[in-house]
Amino acid sequence: MIAKFWGVRGSIPSPPTSREIKYKLLKLLELAAEKDISTPSKREEFIKNADEKLLGVLGGNTPCVELRVEDKIFIFDMGSGLREFGQYLISKVGNSENLELHIFIGHTHWDHIHGFPFFLPAFHSKTTIHFYHLHPQLKERLEVQQDFRFFPVSLDFMASKRTYTQLELDSEIMIGKVKIRNIELNHPGRAFGYRVEYCGKSFVYASDSEYSNLPPERIQKYIDFYSEADLLIFDAPYSFNEELEKINWGHSSALVGIDISVKAKVKNLALFHHAPENGDHEVFKLLDTAMHYKERNYPHSDLKVFLAREGMEYDI
Ligand SMILES: [Zn+2]
Ligand SMILES: [Zn+2]
Repeated sequence: MIAKFWGVRGSIPSPPTSREIKYKLLKLLELAAEKDISTPSKREEFIKNADEKLLGVLGGNTPCVELRVEDKIFIFDMGSGLREFGQYLISKVGNSENLELHIFIGHTHWDHIHGFPFFLPAFHSKTTIHFYHLHPQLKERLEVQQDFRFFPVSLDFMASKRTYTQLELDSEIMIGKVKIRNIELNHPGRAFGYRVEYCGKSFVYASDSEYSNLPPERIQKYIDFYSEADLLIFDAPYSFNEELEKINWGHSSALVGIDISVKAKVKNLALFHHAPENGDHEVFKLLDTAMHYKERNYPHSDLKVFLAREGMEYDI
């Protein structure tokens, strides 16, 4: 299985700001001042070896994760990252090829569905989209999003074929040889996570959930669901203090992600749904704090923790 992050921010798309670019430039210039960059080739060498977090961006698109399992394409949520994924798909297969997509909806807050009206493959008659969801009336929710008052093109105008499968809570389905289970997360308006298993490997998508206000038996249910996941995508926009302040907002922190992942023996933890108000360097600071927390509290744990970044591919 290969997972690819197309959108990693939460709540609202948030492109990098001038402030963020100035911060990165200043850091790069500070590093360059210590080096000899007097020739074009030396400058090229300097850039080649520079820290990835100063050269690139975490990305400003809202949640969308692709999971490829052999020739099948699964998509988790339809945030603004879905737009670029659609362009990529069209560039690969063109308009005349059949395309079959399996889209799992965690929940229908704007940041998890607002990429769909801009999803080019949905406009093509050769595309079949299978939606899987737990909220009732997903079709109606998508129609409302594309009501003429809010968007110029209605859902009916999109030429793709679409099927809607409302899943039973805590149920398991098979798509070919791929097994998918679901769980209810803890989020206003209800949200759901998915666990995908294939050939002994497992992937969990669990965006938008709060844990600090839950009783131990409910936490245990998540530990069981995330158990030994090869990759867990975890909602972690908050710092420790924010987590204490924003009770019942439905989000979590990297520290809680680490506690739960260590207990669940998760192998790789991707911190996801970065807060739109945080510049990249602030998100990296949250990661530093999380790594110290892990070293101090779980020095013998093999858990790998990283920030989900737009464009990042992860081989599971
Ligand atoms: Zn969200
Ligand atoms: Zn939400």
